[in-house]
Amino acid sequence: MISIIGAGPAGSAAAYLLAKAGKDVTIYEEHESVGEPVQCTGIVTSSFSKLVKVRREFLINKIKDARIYSPDRKNILIKMKKPNLIIDRWAFDNYLADKAESAGAKLKLNSRFMGFSKNAVVIKDKKNKKMAAARSNIIIGADGPLSSVAKSTGMFGAREFMTGVQAIAHLENDNAIEFYPYISTFGWVVPENDRKVRIGVLGRKNTVAEFKKLLRIKGLKENSIIEKQGGIVPIYNNRLRTYSEYGNKKIYLIGDAACQIKATTGGGIIQGLTAAKCLADSIIYNRDYEKEWRKKLGRDLWLHLAARRVMDRFSYNDWNRIVRIFCKKKNKEILEGFDRDYPSRFFLRLALQEPRLWQFVRKLI
Ligand SMILES: Cc1cc2nc3c(=O)[nH]c(=O)nc-3n(C[C@H](O)[C@H](O)[C@H](O)COP(=O)(O)OP(=O)(O)OC[C@H]3O[C@@H](n4cnc5c(N)ncnc54)[C@H](O)[C@@H]3O)c2cc1C
Repeated sequence: MISIIGAGPAGSAAAYLLAKAGKDVTIYEEHESVGEPVQCTGIVTSSFSKLVKVRREFLINKIKDARIYSPDRKNILIKMKKPNLIIDRWAFDNYLADKAESAGAKLKLNSRFMGFSKNAVVIKDKKNKKMAAARSNIIIGADGPLSSVAKSTGMFGAREFMTGVQAIAHLENDNAIEFYPYISTFGWVVPENDRKVRIGVLGRKNTVAEFKKLLRIKGLKENSIIEKQGGIVPIYNNRLRTYSEYGNKKIYLIGDAACQIKATTGGGIIQGLTAAKCLADSIIYNRDYEKEWRKKLGRDLWLHLAARRVMDRFSYNDWNRIVRIFCKKKNKEILEGFDRDYPSRFFLRLALQEPRLWQFVRKLI
């Protein structure tokens, strides 16, 4: 029996693949419904469609243009060859959970993972305030950044986090994504349609103040804000374990619970879905999960982390210079053609083509 803790995208995707392969799967979700509260912008690159069939029920927008801003208000306009997709996280999480259930997985809501007993997981039924033990020999922690499964098995480690603050707001726009890499750790404006945007900031400190700074840049007042959201984002750490054994039970972590998230932008949907596929294949075909996901994601997640460390040392002046470097046609073309989820496919080409970038890489040392 397989117990999956958490009905986010990573948990439900793993449940679907395992149930489809005939495994006995139960998902335990602590909330009374799937997909709430929404704590995500929902922007994904075109690679998303290699993992999931894109459906109207969760697709909100497709965007081909992106602008990257520098502190001196210059920007590079990137015309992406393949559009980014904007998805509705509530609808997407529910779509995946429904798919898992249709494939035979059981979904138990209001069910919080509390820990382990000898050969079972201990689940608290939040409605009836009762504890129950569910026998399982495989436990998958897909329970997000503060993973209780990771904590109960000594896999939590010394994680670091960033905070995301975002709002949905009325704002007329020209359907271009805006990136503000110099605001806090990262700021963004993502159109839902030509009158509404998702605007947010990811940071380690003073995130609310930085968020207000972005609102001011966009001329947004409190009365334009429809809804405010927030959440935490774990920073990738290649030393964290994602597999352990507890008695006769095998325990795995996926998605945010395993910190499989891009340290540059805080994006983790594609990474969580990829890890879910690696894990399902590893269980079905008896492979080494750690090896499988590191093969697929490890190098790119490490590059994102290295880029984050470099960017954390940037001054405003560095950002002004880098935006100018990327305005150069040849450099821009690389950004337009490649997928930011997989920097290993373009970092080297870019670095060889533009030697000025090495002066920034030196900041890592
Ligand atoms: C403000 C913000 C904006 C973001 N924007 C983007 C974006 O635009 N694009 C992108 O790719 N990523 C984005 N992310 C990151 C993205 O949201 C995560 O990477 C993604 O949700 C991870 O999916 P997951 O299934 O691993 O975990 P989650 O989505 O966190 O799901 C975990 C599930 O486990 C449940 N759970 C937790 N503890 C327990 C327990 N003890 N028992 C039972 N259930 C439990 C939770 O209720 C939840 O349903 C953003 C994050 C933030 C904070």
